This record gives sequence, C-alpha cells and structure tokens, in this order.
Amino acid sequence: MSIKITEKCINCGACEPECPNKAIYEGGKKWRMSDGTSLIKNKTLDPTIFQKPKKKDIYFIVSEKCTECVGFYNEPQCVIICPVQCCVPGNYEKKESLIVKKNFLHRNR
Ligand code: SF4
Ligand code: SF4
Repeated sequence: MSIKITEKCINCGACEPECPNKAIYEGGKKWRMSDGTSLIKNKTLDPTIFQKPKKKDIYFIVSEKCTECVGFYNEPQCVIICPVQCCVPGNYEKKESLIVKKNFLHRNR
C-alpha cells in the first residue's frame, strides 16, 4: 500500500505535482494506471480505463501506483512536502516489491 493520506489533509494540492508516478489525485477525480506511467494497453490490461475516485473530499494516493518514490528519490516526496504531515506510511511493502512495482510502471526507465 505504501504511503496513504489521512483525514487531516487540507486539500492544498502541494503533493500532487511532486509524485513521480502520478499516484496522487484530488478528491473526486477519476484516475488511470496510464497517467504518468509507460503502461500501454495489452491483452490482459487496459491502463487507460478511468477508475473511480478512492476519496471524494480529500486527496488520495493510488496504492497500486505508489512506490514510496523508490527508483526516483531517496525519500517519499509527498511526505516531505505536505504541510500538515498527513502523508503517512500505509501497509508495509518490501523494497524489492517496490522496485518491481516501479519497473512495472516505467518499463523504459
Ligand atoms: Fe507518489 Fe512518492 Fe508519495 Fe508514493 S511516496 S504517492 S510515489 S510522491
Ligand atoms: Fe493534502 Fe498534504 Fe497533499 Fe496538501 S500536501 S493536498 S495537505 S496530502
């Protein structure tokens, strides 16, 4: 699950442009696996399909896309920039799993 956003979020939007995986969305916005990634449609996956928002009123992180910034930065960028410290660890994922996720999202990097 990686990083998650708690109910303390004040909707400032500072975190969204910092995410290297485009895993952060404004509350109520639909999201896609293909946003900010190199995923393309194939026989088993259509990453261009819009998915339902995970939260309506506050920003949310798509756990399937969050790598805790592994592969890009040494620290989670949303955690660093959030002014109210509401980006917090979710379920634990091994670093190896986060690298696999990052390589899945960005095949050419
Ligand atoms: Fe995006 Fe990094 Fe925050 Fe995960 S930890 S949501 S990859 S900025
Ligand atoms: Fe919410 Fe923090 Fe992101 Fe601002 S930076 S939108 S308070 S999670």
